Formats: sequence, structure tokens, C-alpha cells
Amino acid sequence: MKVTIKEEKCMGCGSCPSLVPDVFDFNDDGFAYAKVDTVPEDLEDGVKEAIELCPTGAIVEEKSE
Ligand code: SF4
Repeated sequence: MKVTIKEEKCMGCGSCPSLVPDVFDFNDDGFAYAKVDTVPEDLEDGVKEAIELCPTGAIVEEKSE
């Protein structure tokens, strides 16, 4: 799966980077971003949980082509 974060929606709550630090991190502006393009299979469950828990719905799964 692929995942991106809509920076304009992120409120920097810190949930996703603490849940899946290998996928999400904060940029210098204090917003989260996805630091990998394709999520490793063993981290997919954590990413799905992060998507559900994001209070602003900023994390979106991209359908692979
Ligand atoms: S969980 Fe959502 S609002 Fe919180 S840091 Fe991640 S993208 Fe931003």
C-alpha cells in the first residue's frame, strides 16, 4: 500500500509518528509526512490504525495503479 499525508489537514497531534515511526515523521514545520513511498507489508496494519486514529483524516491511502 501507499500512503500520503495531506499537510493542510494535519494538526501535528503526534499520533501517527508515535504509532508507526518507520513510516511517519514530522517535517520542520511540525506537520507529519510519510517518509516512505510504499509501506512495508509488516507495517500495513499499523498504518491502517494510524489512518483510523488521525483526528483530522489527513492520512490517505493511495490506491496503487
Ligand atoms: S495523526 Fe493526523 S493530525 Fe496527527 S500528526 Fe498524524 S497526520 Fe497529523
